[in-house]
Amino acid sequence: MLFELKQVFLNEGEEKRIDYTLSLNNIELDGFYPFKTPVKVTATAKNRAGLVDLLIHTEFTYTRHCDRCFELVQRQMSYDFSHRLVTSLAGDSDDDYIEAPDFTVELDELITSDILLELPIKFLCRDDCKGLCPKCGKNRNDGECSCEKTAVDSRLDILKQLLD
Ligand SMILES: [Zn+2]
Ligand SMILES: [Zn+2]
Repeated sequence: MLFELKQVFLNEGEEKRIDYTLSLNNIELDGFYPFKTPVKVTATAKNRAGLVDLLIHTEFTYTRHCDRCFELVQRQMSYDFSHRLVTSLAGDSDDDYIEAPDFTVELDELITSDILLELPIKFLCRDDCKGLCPKCGKNRNDGECSCEKTAVDSRLDILKQLLD
């Protein structure tokens, strides 16, 4: 999506907003496609005292397997990003500065990389997910299995979960 911002760049106090949906259904992470539905995007560009800031709000459903118990989890996510726009990058490029040649910024690539960088590396169905029994494979969130457990086992499990 091209966001045309000539009026914003040229007029202090000017503001422009765009709402659209961004499809990320072709993004594959660990062999899985976590973006089943399009990302809702609201992008606002504001000129404050001659500086143009781009504020991005995203909402999306993220579908992924829990790293510990492997249950499929659907979670509503919402991220906000902001960048400063410049018509040309002078000298050293800065990650927070985005070039908008011809007063235009291409949003899709920017937002896609913003989201991918922000996603949690470790993903759990819940903070205290108990994971699977290493013996029988039962999901311990559904209740204890009948495997014999010794104190040593559970200490090892805690250690293993910490190392996960
Ligand atoms: Zn889990
Ligand atoms: Zn078991």
